[in-house]
Amino acid sequence: MTTTATFIGHGSPMNTLESNKWTQAWRDLGTTLGKPRAILAISAHWFINATAVTSMERPKVIHDFYGFPQELFNFDYPAKGLPDLARQVAEIVKPDVVALDDSTWGIDHGTWSVLAHMYPEADVPIVQLAIDARKPIEYHIDLGAKLAPLLEDDVLVLASGNVVHNLRQVQWSAEDKGFKWAWEFDNDVASTIEGRPEELRNLKDHESYQLAVPTPDHFLPLAYIAGIASEKGLKFEKVIEGCTLGSLSMTTYKLEK
Ligand code: ZN
Repeated sequence: MTTTATFIGHGSPMNTLESNKWTQAWRDLGTTLGKPRAILAISAHWFINATAVTSMERPKVIHDFYGFPQELFNFDYPAKGLPDLARQVAEIVKPDVVALDDSTWGIDHGTWSVLAHMYPEADVPIVQLAIDARKPIEYHIDLGAKLAPLLEDDVLVLASGNVVHNLRQVQWSAEDKGFKWAWEFDNDVASTIEGRPEELRNLKDHESYQLAVPTPDHFLPLAYIAGIASEKGLKFEKVIEGCTLGSLSMTTYKLEK
């Protein structure tokens, strides 16, 4: 069975508890894709100076944020890990760290805020791969390409970030609107990856790159999906597009034949 890969624009952790057009799109996506054997999650929120992979049987649910309601800190997503898949991923990526114990990592909100909607029963095992902050975008695109064979093994590669993510420019009154530069960057990323996905690396020369991507953590998950698309000749297809709070893009993609 061949499954696919997806990039989700996750936005605020409050999406876990809310029901809005973004979370509805994630629910519909889960239904469309069906349940894979396992998920390899690449989240903006595990951005460290190492290449690392989780391999515990029961990954801890990490509430990696501050200043949100208690209900969000109480939220549980009791998915299992899958040590076999972790080993398979480790053979491909040659990590510096294989996270065997709960003190190292688990599942962070970049992963579970989205999966809470896509697979609310938490019955698909998850392995997380860290984003190595020391490496340039080319490394992440290449690594995505190397991970592409996992799709044939019924593993859904789920990258979670935001194409545009500038928290300093957030305008709380903007609701589901975006600044002109945010829309432009989001659209230019779309036309790049819908054409030649590996050219995502050139977006660092875009005139709005500094505004849209002040730090690369939320942008780089997309590089993995671009690498897979390029390797397997799959096409980026928008699941939902748009901006929120002025300076965040929520645009979500899946790969199609
Ligand atoms: Zn985030």
